[in-house]
Amino acid sequence: MSLTAESHRIPLSDGNSIPLLGLGTYADPQKTPKGTCLEAVKIAIDAGYRHIDGAFVYYNEHEVGQAIREKIAEGKIKREDIFYCGKLWNTCHPPELVRPTLEKTLKILQLDYVDLYIIELPMAFKPGDALYPKDENGKFIYHETDLCATWEAMEACKDAGLAKSIGVSNFNRRQLEMIMNKPGLKYKPVSNQVECHPYFTQPKLLEFCRQHDIVIVGYSPLGTSRDESWVNVSSPPLLKDPVLNAIGKKYNKTAAQVALRFSIQRGVVVIPKSFNPQRIRENFQIFDFSLTEKEMKEIEALNKNVRYVELLM
Ligand code: NAP
Repeated sequence: MSLTAESHRIPLSDGNSIPLLGLGTYADPQKTPKGTCLEAVKIAIDAGYRHIDGAFVYYNEHEVGQAIREKIAEGKIKREDIFYCGKLWNTCHPPELVRPTLEKTLKILQLDYVDLYIIELPMAFKPGDALYPKDENGKFIYHETDLCATWEAMEACKDAGLAKSIGVSNFNRRQLEMIMNKPGLKYKPVSNQVECHPYFTQPKLLEFCRQHDIVIVGYSPLGTSRDESWVNVSSPPLLKDPVLNAIGKKYNKTAAQVALRFSIQRGVVVIPKSFNPQRIRENFQIFDFSLTEKEMKEIEALNKNVRYVELLM
C-alpha cells in the first residue's frame, strides 16, 4: 500500500483537516546554505509529505513557496493537496497589521492562501522593521496589545479567504480560554502548536485541548537540533533514549520514528524538521507500524516535564 500524508489527516473544528505529519522548516539562516530548504521541501513532497510548517521569521518562506509551486507545475501535486501553516510574528500583533502581514507572507510564498495561520507567540514586540527589537541594555522591547483584538483580525483573514483555518502557538490554557471566552467569538482556534515529545508530553494541555476540539501540533518532536543559542541542552538528547531505541529495535525502526509514532498515536500532529534527504524519508515511514498500549505507557513514563525550547523572551 502506498502511504501518503493525505490519508493520515485529522479533522479540525472548522470542517477542514490537517495531515498528522508535516515537515518543519526552521533552520539557522546563518548556517544553512541558500536553496537547502527549497530542495528539502521538494524531496519531502516527493516522499509523500503534504503538510509544511513554516514562518516569516524562518527567512526561508520564499524557498518553501517556490518548492510548492515547482511541484504543482510538475504536475506532482495540486495546490489543494498541500497544507501550509504560516505564522504571525510578535511585531505584528496590532490588529491593523495582521492582514497586511499575512498578505506579505502570501506574496513571499506566491500563493493565494495559507491553509493555517497561527499567532506564533502570545506576547507582542514593538512593531517595526526589527523583528527582535531591543533597548540599549539589550532587553526585548515588548508592546501592549489585546490578544482578543489580534484574534478578531485573524478571523477577518479567514473570512477574506486568505487563511483556510486559524490557530495559535505557545498558548497556555489561560490564554486559550481568553480567546474562547471572548464576547462575539466567530471562530475558535483550531490548533495550538506547542513543544511536545516523549520528554515533554503535555498531558494537561493535551486533555484540555481534546475537550475543546483543539488539535495539538507538536513542535520539536525529535528533541530539537540542540542549538545552544536557543535550546536547553542540559536536558539529555531525546533520540539517545534507551527505551525509544529498544522499542525501535523490535520494529526495525529508529528512535526518531518511534518518537514520531508515539505522538501521532496520541493524536498529536508532528512537524519534524529535516533538510537531509534520507532523514526526511525516514521520518515519513511511521504509518506502517503501531505501538502497543504497554509501549505507549512506557514512553509516556519518560516525560520529564522539561522543555528544550525555554522561550526566555
Ligand atoms: P526537531 O524536528 O525535533 O529536530 C530537528 C533536528 O533533528 C534537526 O537537527 C534534524 O537534522 C534532526 N533530525 C531530523 N530527523 C532526524 C532523524 N530521523 N534522526 C536523527 N536526527 C534527525 O526540532 P525543531 O526544528 O525544533 O522542531 C520542528 C519544527 O517545529 C521546526 O522546524 C519549526 O517548523 C517548528 N517549531 C515551531 C516553534 C514555535 O514556536 N511555534 C518552535 C520550534 C519549532 P537534519 O535536518 O540534519 O536531519
